[in-house]
Amino acid sequence: MPTETKTTCPYCGVGCGVIATVDDYGKASVKGDPGHPANFGRLCSKGSALAETIDLDGRVLYPEIDGQRANWNDALDLVASKFCEAIAEHGPDSVAFYVSGQCLTEDYYVANKLMKGFIGSANIDTNSRLCMASSVAGHRRAFGSDTVPGTYEDLELADLIVLVGSNLAWCHPVLNQRIQAAKQSRPDMKIVTIDPRRSVSADLADMHLMIKSDGDVALFNGLLAHLAGSSAFDQDYVSAHTIGFNDALEAAQTRSMLDVSEETGLAVGELRAFYRLFETTEKVVTCYSQGINQSSIGTDKVNAIINCHLATGRIGKPGMGPFSLTGQPNAMGGREVGGLANMLAAHMNIEDEAARDRVQRFWNSPTMAARPGLKAVEMFEAVADGRIKALWIMATNPVVSMPDADRVREAISNCPFVVVSDIQKNTDTAALAHVLLPAAGWGEKDGTVTNSERRISRQRNFLDLPGDAKPDWWHMAEVAKRMGFDGFDYDNPATIFAEHAALSGFENGGTRDFDIGAKADISPGIFEAMSPFQWPHRKGAPEGVTRFFADGQFYTPDRKARFISVKSERDDRTSKDAPFILNTGRIRDQWHTMTRTGKAARLSSHLAEPFAEINPADAAELGIDKAGLVRVENSFGSVVLRALLTERQPRGGVFVPMHWNDEYSANARVAALLAPHTDPISGQPALKNIGVKVRPA
Ligand code: SF4
Repeated sequence: MPTETKTTCPYCGVGCGVIATVDDYGKASVKGDPGHPANFGRLCSKGSALAETIDLDGRVLYPEIDGQRANWNDALDLVASKFCEAIAEHGPDSVAFYVSGQCLTEDYYVANKLMKGFIGSANIDTNSRLCMASSVAGHRRAFGSDTVPGTYEDLELADLIVLVGSNLAWCHPVLNQRIQAAKQSRPDMKIVTIDPRRSVSADLADMHLMIKSDGDVALFNGLLAHLAGSSAFDQDYVSAHTIGFNDALEAAQTRSMLDVSEETGLAVGELRAFYRLFETTEKVVTCYSQGINQSSIGTDKVNAIINCHLATGRIGKPGMGPFSLTGQPNAMGGREVGGLANMLAAHMNIEDEAARDRVQRFWNSPTMAARPGLKAVEMFEAVADGRIKALWIMATNPVVSMPDADRVREAISNCPFVVVSDIQKNTDTAALAHVLLPAAGWGEKDGTVTNSERRISRQRNFLDLPGDAKPDWWHMAEVAKRMGFDGFDYDNPATIFAEHAALSGFENGGTRDFDIGAKADISPGIFEAMSPFQWPHRKGAPEGVTRFFADGQFYTPDRKARFISVKSERDDRTSKDAPFILNTGRIRDQWHTMTRTGKAARLSSHLAEPFAEINPADAAELGIDKAGLVRVENSFGSVVLRALLTERQPRGGVFVPMHWNDEYSANARVAALLAPHTDPISGQPALKNIGVKVRPA
């Protein structure tokens, strides 16, 4: 008899429920789960092709040491001894973990516990640093906590959706479908898209603002100044629940409407129309994604948006609020366990001594990291200059995805000891491993993920583990035990989840946003059957709280939100030798560095090869033919791509997808061109505003 398993899609942060069926011959198929509140049965092209990506081609099936097959004992002993040696000789900060938003919460939890509570360093960071670190920093500045206030239902209840820096139609397709359906049933609902590129998401919009790269702070500061003098300004809310409005307004008012027009590249008429629409529509949700986050001023952009929602009291209420859309399936779960180098665990602050003491007592751990660790870009700089002696990379491919990717490759190549846990053998990063550990893939691993609306869902296994593959949490726990640490005797993910839930509720008392203490006593059987739920779920409280801050209470010491004064200064990264602005991003049918989606032939039928989108007028001036080859280059690197001429691209800009790795196309790793510029607050790299030269290849 065919068996059905309810699980969750492993790609984007929408977190769609999937039903996987394995027939009598062992063949798997997938369909959307009609009972899952994220997607109600819908799937996008990537999700519906999942069954085509789970073959064993190219899989890592056995541990390898220096390219030779090894057994688990030898591999784990070697990893433990190399990490112990580095720590003994050079201290705990000489080792580092670089993990992933692809990890399940249980994997992330064990890795964070080992590094922060037992090794005693905070050198654990994640590819989520490239994805939403600026949202985390912006939330914490404004709310005192990393809290997404709203829920997906708000996107259907809103009368105005502002999509800024988000190609939702390609990057979060099922949410786009939900908005599309809402607009069909309520044609008066308005959508505004704000993006330097007229992406396909703009096709659904009533207004598209083709903003200059990084012009967002100027745009939202202008909006704040407009709202302050309008009927939409909520003086009562601002007085009762916030601090810092006057300073933020003063900073916003340093620019006239003409200045804002100049800084955004938008006509005054366009600005007035947008501002008036925002002012006169009470139910507004502002959704933002990588166009906001992946910037050297990303945190200020986030706060410029939040300022406008605080000024109007439009937050935490049905159909209203700022809404950060996370890129990865479990970036949120990683934040919850403290998988970022500047966080602790359960949304506690690593710089808070009382919090460190609380977590150490809970873990009964011998030590505790006393300060933030190295964020992703800093971590690979430390690998490059020799400060990191042992590095463990888990479920991610930084040689393709990190900025200044060629230097990252060289740095990892020269690192004295590198462990890679992955499912695919032929990745650009796995090729550099001293020890390669076979991980469990989607369909084989078992645990939980959290989506963009704080909904925790089960990812369940429905396939046997191939060869000697094991879950990532097991890799970490076995090494921890071999390093001599207690507290890592986990038999299953349910035990880890229960411990994580217990920590979230430990000495909480409603003082911290993340609390799923009601699940602390969960048994493996209940865990197996657990339905998707939104946090918080505090002990003794019923499930089902879906919005934060409706009561005007925040997680700052005085429970008031903070307006943040932000300046509208954008970096011009172009020069005489690199006059085009390079923008990078996703395409509809590929995921990250294609290690999984690259296996499904039909996903390559949409856009089959790496390309550079260029405005036809620019192409004509440069002598670039339609579908001709172009070289895109700067002082960091050079790639060769197919020219795709389109009016969707503004003049002076070029868009290149982030996905292609060396296995699928030589000389197309666009990250090799990206400078390691970061936001000074969040440490998130700027991946959408780099100067390049474009010429016929
Ligand atoms: Fe998967 Fe995202 Fe597509 Fe849903 S929208 S099926 S989570 S890739």
